[in-house]
Amino acid sequence: MSAKGSIITEHRYEDMDKKVPGFGIRDFIFLACIFLGLLFAFLSQRKIAKPGKYVLVTVSGQEYTKVPLVNAVSLTIDIEKDGVVTNILHVENGAAFMTDAECPDKLCVKQGKISRLNETIVCLPNEVVVTVTGEETQESDIDAVSGR
Ligand SMILES: [Zn+2]
Repeated sequence: MSAKGSIITEHRYEDMDKKVPGFGIRDFIFLACIFLGLLFAFLSQRKIAKPGKYVLVTVSGQEYTKVPLVNAVSLTIDIEKDGVVTNILHVENGAAFMTDAECPDKLCVKQGKISRLNETIVCLPNEVVVTVTGEETQESDIDAVSGR
């Protein structure tokens, strides 16, 4: 008797769910799963991305300068190309960001702060690439390409 009763109850719930127009309990669970999945992906990505140790600046594929990325360091780097200052990089509180640039789009300035491993700021018109690197011994992709 009791087993039969539970089957009927389940059936009724199904019927109720089908009758609810628009937003049913299943839609809610579905959305909640998606939301939790996105939240988890976001949080785990932040945890996996380690804070970097150095900021490597390259101009036209050549290493320009490399500065430690620690909270104690606060400095402004004038990035020159052919004797002209093209970009101004600021390093502060363990993060690097472009404060000014001689480029038409200013996309590098808009890219904001970088502090995590392998994050980059790219200024295409000036061929300036700022990369957050880890240990000093680690080879960057740029070095591998130029064969140095
Ligand atoms: Zn730029």
